[in-house]
Amino acid sequence: MSFVISLPPVSSIPVQGGDALFPVRRVFCVGRNYREHAREMGALDQAEGREPPFFFYKPSDAVVTGKGELEIAYPPMTANLHHEIELVVALKAGGADLAVDAAAGLVFGYAVGLDLTRRDIQARAKEKGHPWDMAKGFDQSAVCSPILPASQSACLTSGQIWLDVNGERRQSGDLSDMGWGIAEIIANLSTLVRLEAGDLIYTGTPAGVGPLQRGDRLEGGIQGVGMLRARIV
Ligand code: MN
Repeated sequence: MSFVISLPPVSSIPVQGGDALFPVRRVFCVGRNYREHAREMGALDQAEGREPPFFFYKPSDAVVTGKGELEIAYPPMTANLHHEIELVVALKAGGADLAVDAAAGLVFGYAVGLDLTRRDIQARAKEKGHPWDMAKGFDQSAVCSPILPASQSACLTSGQIWLDVNGERRQSGDLSDMGWGIAEIIANLSTLVRLEAGDLIYTGTPAGVGPLQRGDRLEGGIQGVGMLRARIV
């Protein structure tokens, strides 16, 4: 057995507290999972209750990670690159049609992520009913801190999440504000696709998303999970 071209490198993320790497299989993202962010995107209607979760992908090689400050190239074909600070969940096992109670047992760990978004491309896609892929799944669009292995037997349900740009607080919220919790997201997503070890899930962003410029320095964090530092070049 041989391959006609060389195998692509495996995308991987450092694990806190050692030299081991977490290999990335797929990158799933949840849309509009914090009420105040849905409101700022003009997507919240007057209906009571939660909007059902919806998902999109980024390719695994869109992941930018490492220890220390990360360098991210301002992407092409946009004049409105937005930051979205998010909790990232890394799975060590998968399955289909999972129960909410089974979800915590699948979590390898947590990380601080940025779902970088070409907001202008996304706005045009929404207008035309086109897919979001090129707004969301471009090169270096999935920024991720080293992963903290999960120690508890239950999923994280609270903790501050924030993002500073050039020392100014831009986004802030709490994981308890998520419309759909981690276990619910995992269970729901597993009804759509069979989840596998190595999958990452970006769980949505709190309010305060906004544009980035070349030269911006970003510092984000999640209480009890870690920190992410990056620079746009
Ligand atoms: Mn997002």
